[in-house]
Amino acid sequence: MPTRRILLAEPRGFCAGVESAVKSLAWMAVLHRPPVFCVHPVVHNEHVVARFERLGVRFVDDPDDAPAGAPVLLSAHGSAPHAVERAARRASVVVDAVCPLVTKVHHEIRTRTRAGGTVLYVGHPGHDEAVGAIAHAPDRVVLVETPADVATATVPDGAPVAVLAQTTLAYDAWREVVGAAGRRFGDVWLPPRDDLCFATTNRQAAVVVLAQRCEAVVVVGSSSSSNTRALADTARRAGCPVVVRVAGPDELAADLTDGRDVVGVTAGASTPAHTVDAVVEALRPERIERVEVAREGEYFPLARPIRQRLRELAVHGALDPALHDAFVHDRTTSADDLLTLIEGADLVGAHASPARPATGALQHRRAS
Ligand code: SF4
Repeated sequence: MPTRRILLAEPRGFCAGVESAVKSLAWMAVLHRPPVFCVHPVVHNEHVVARFERLGVRFVDDPDDAPAGAPVLLSAHGSAPHAVERAARRASVVVDAVCPLVTKVHHEIRTRTRAGGTVLYVGHPGHDEAVGAIAHAPDRVVLVETPADVATATVPDGAPVAVLAQTTLAYDAWREVVGAAGRRFGDVWLPPRDDLCFATTNRQAAVVVLAQRCEAVVVVGSSSSSNTRALADTARRAGCPVVVRVAGPDELAADLTDGRDVVGVTAGASTPAHTVDAVVEALRPERIERVEVAREGEYFPLARPIRQRLRELAVHGALDPALHDAFVHDRTTSADDLLTLIEGADLVGAHASPARPATGALQHRRAS
């Protein structure tokens, strides 16, 4: 299916939060004897999950599904407080890889509900991020997904209403829900900075440009990825006649490019670069043009306990030389490169400490 021209969105693929969470789990695999356990998929992408499974990481639905004393990482989507507490009681080490921008929403939920308000949380029912967020004040948060949900939401009379959101929604769909809340409740509280994160809005701004310039747009990412689905939704709303979401090149229809000269390609924030590259290669373009709408310089450091342990090893000259470089240059080392290094040199468990009993201590990802 040769394509004359591909317009490639910038930015696309892994965001800073995903980079940090994937690298944290990769380092966990180096610093602990396998198996390391991860509660929920570390990010919503089957290729990333399969890669970790080959490194001996096991994915579970709940901290209680991991054996007592095992090392556990909590996913980037954020966890319910009771899940975090149970993990801390049960595991030898718990690393919470929640993205700081999801933590911001958790904080907003607690603050608004403690002040006596009700939160309308705009999100997808059953999504890990929504489940974890709502659990911060389950009695005072109402999940809504559409304007119709707002119309039927049960809210105590006279209670102030705040509208908060999952970070990865389609911007236009989210605005419609916010508008419906304003019409029903009047003066609703909105956070000073939108809950939809920079990675979500940047990728959607780029796909709008693609939608306006391309005859078809391919969105690469998993069907379970909220921000990937939001990208496809955004491209359709922007008027692109053909929008397809594929997990990888195998899902591309053979006739996708028939009669089409210009095809756009983008990817959700949990899609690795090599999967996008494989899709572009399968389209066999004569020319590739990059369409840049934003440059992302955001960087989220590794989880603090991982940084501390790696620093100790580095100071004592005990860190494998290749890993030492990856740690020292963490800001410029991609998650993909780190995983490739660990796979290639068989470094799983290379710096494992002796097994320890459960400590009950939670170790957060952030330094402050
Ligand atoms: Fe964080 Fe946004 Fe990336 Fe989610 S999509 S991990 S909220 S930066």
